[in-house]
Amino acid sequence: MSEGIERVGVVGAGLMGAGIAEVSAKAGCDVTVCDINDVAVTAGRGRIESSLDRAVRSGKLDDDARTATLDRIRFVTDIGELSDRQLVVEAVREFEDEKLEVFRNLGKIVVDDQAILASNTSSIPIMKLAMATDRPEHVLGLHFFNPVPVMRLVELIPSIVTGSDVADRAEEFIADSLAKRVIRSQDRAGFIVNALFVPYVLAAIRMLESGFASADDIDAGMVEGCSHPMGPLALADMIGLDTIEAVADSMYSEFKEPLYAPPPLLSRMVEAGLLGRKCGRGFFNYAK
Ligand code: NAD
Repeated sequence: MSEGIERVGVVGAGLMGAGIAEVSAKAGCDVTVCDINDVAVTAGRGRIESSLDRAVRSGKLDDDARTATLDRIRFVTDIGELSDRQLVVEAVREFEDEKLEVFRNLGKIVVDDQAILASNTSSIPIMKLAMATDRPEHVLGLHFFNPVPVMRLVELIPSIVTGSDVADRAEEFIADSLAKRVIRSQDRAGFIVNALFVPYVLAAIRMLESGFASADDIDAGMVEGCSHPMGPLALADMIGLDTIEAVADSMYSEFKEPLYAPPPLLSRMVEAGLLGRKCGRGFFNYAK
């Protein structure tokens, strides 16, 4: 464990928050995860248990390590329980208002004035979130990738006022304790990876929308022709179409580039609740 950060808080026990909690606990940290109610907390715990079970089945983790990891994670529904944390990672949905509310609360409740307040946002400028707190110099972006236990990359995004020591401490924790590869990006909507990835996915959706090619053929083109492990539409389904739309909205609002604007088909699917794998249907059908 990197010296200094032993108590980690995670806000949001969804796809990403559960993964961030899991890797932090596996690294030996004491982790508190907060979600809005018991149903969400139970779902988050279930996500972590399933992921740990997969790791045991594949021989990457033994039963004792599984139990010890779970024992290090506490699930709560009151954000006030994160008051003693040294690092808090916010992983609620990609909506600016929801994230601002979380940062406003974190600024009030986290006692340690050296604590790092991080957002896992995919696209919302860190500066906006930092200004909701009383300590903008301690706020930065830590953008993990899905699934967190498998993906090695974390983008680290200091805002223009983040202390360099704060960014260095966060980098040391991610690299040394979590054994992940850190890349640094300036605080621009989309950072490095989504600035490249989102226009590519949106182009695939526009191709489908215009009748240019079928979903199967678009994905097969990129898998078989470019050796991508997944096609763009299957990957969008895995990430969640609501997340893709929200990220595209933030990037469009920042740059006003038409290539970042969500295509109507994406918006209609989100309105219809066809959000991808997490609800059983998106561009492809996942119903059992
Ligand atoms: P999700 O919808 O799976 O999970 C969000 C969770 O936050 C839910 O459990 C919800 O109940 C909880 N929540 C909402 N408001 C809350 C509050 N005030 N306090 C505590 N919990 C609250 O979303 P996700 O896919 O895990 O995405 C979370 C963040 O991670 C987003 O900012 C997203 O852009 C980013 N992200 C997502 C991916 C991905 O592939 N899904 C990848 C990288 C980053």
